[in-house]
Amino acid sequence: MSFPTEKGMMKMSNSSLVKYTKLSPNHSGARTHKIDRISPHCVVGQISIESLGNVFASKSRGASSNYGIGADGRIGMFVEEKNRSWCTSSNANDQRAVTIECASDSTHPYTFRGCVYDALVDLCVDICKRNGKKKLLWISNKTQALSYEPKSDEMILTVHRWFKNKACPGEWMMNHMEDLAKRVTKALSGGSSSSGSKTTGSLQVAQKKNEKFAKKYKVIADVLNIRLGAGTDFESIGKVTNGEFVRCYGYYNTDRNGVKWLTVQYGKITGYVSKNYLVEVK
Ligand SMILES: [Zn+2]
Repeated sequence: MSFPTEKGMMKMSNSSLVKYTKLSPNHSGARTHKIDRISPHCVVGQISIESLGNVFASKSRGASSNYGIGADGRIGMFVEEKNRSWCTSSNANDQRAVTIECASDSTHPYTFRGCVYDALVDLCVDICKRNGKKKLLWISNKTQALSYEPKSDEMILTVHRWFKNKACPGEWMMNHMEDLAKRVTKALSGGSSSSGSKTTGSLQVAQKKNEKFAKKYKVIADVLNIRLGAGTDFESIGKVTNGEFVRCYGYYNTDRNGVKWLTVQYGKITGYVSKNYLVEVK
C-alpha cells in the first residue's frame, strides 16, 4: 500500500530569508492553483519593509503581496506563500504567482538598488527550490508567456503591466528580467549562488584595452563592489564608497548586458567595477 509522498504534493512553506513578518488581512485564503509563477513589482518608493507592511495592514488599501523587499535589501512577508495575495490585478495570476514588491525609485525607470535586486535573486532561488523548480523562465512576449504551461520543474516570470495599464515593475526591472531568470536558473543548477558566494576564483583577464579609459575616476554610487570579473555574478573582493577614487590603466571587459567594467586599482585591490558608477577626474 502506498501513500502520496511529500514529493508529489505542494510544499506549503514560507521563505526562511524573511526578516520581518506582518501578515496582511488582504488576501483570498488558500491558492486554487499550484505555484508556477513569480511576479516582481516595483513599490514606487525607497521604503522599508515595515512601511510596506503598514500599507498592506490597512484593509482599505485592498492590496498586498506575498513578500516585499525593503530599500535596505531586507525581505518581509505579508501574505503566506500558501495564500493568494492581491497584487497583480489578476485573479488568474495571483492564484499561481508568488508576488514580490521591491523598493524602487519613485520615478521612471523605477530603479532598484543593488541590495534589493540581489535579495530578489536570492528570494527567487529560494522560492523555486522549495517549490521543486529547477528553472526560472522569462518570456518577454506577453501572449506567449501567459499561454505557456510550465513543465513541472519550471517557474515563469510574469509582470503586473500585462494585467493592468500601469508601468509596474518599471523599465529598470523590465530590463533585468532576463538577467534575473538567468541568475536564478544558474544558482538552481548548482552554479554560483546569487550573492555572497558568487563565481569565485581568480581575477578575470582583461580582454580589451582602450587608452582613453586610463584615468582616475571618482565613485558616484553609495557603495560600489570591486569584483573578480566584469559582471555582478563575479565575487566581490572589496568595496569603494561614494567620493572615493580608483585608477584604471585602460583595461576593461564588457558584461553580458553590454556594460563596461573597468579593471581598476584601489589601494592593494585590483578588480572590476562598473563604469556606470564612475566619473572621470581631470
Ligand atoms: Zn505591481
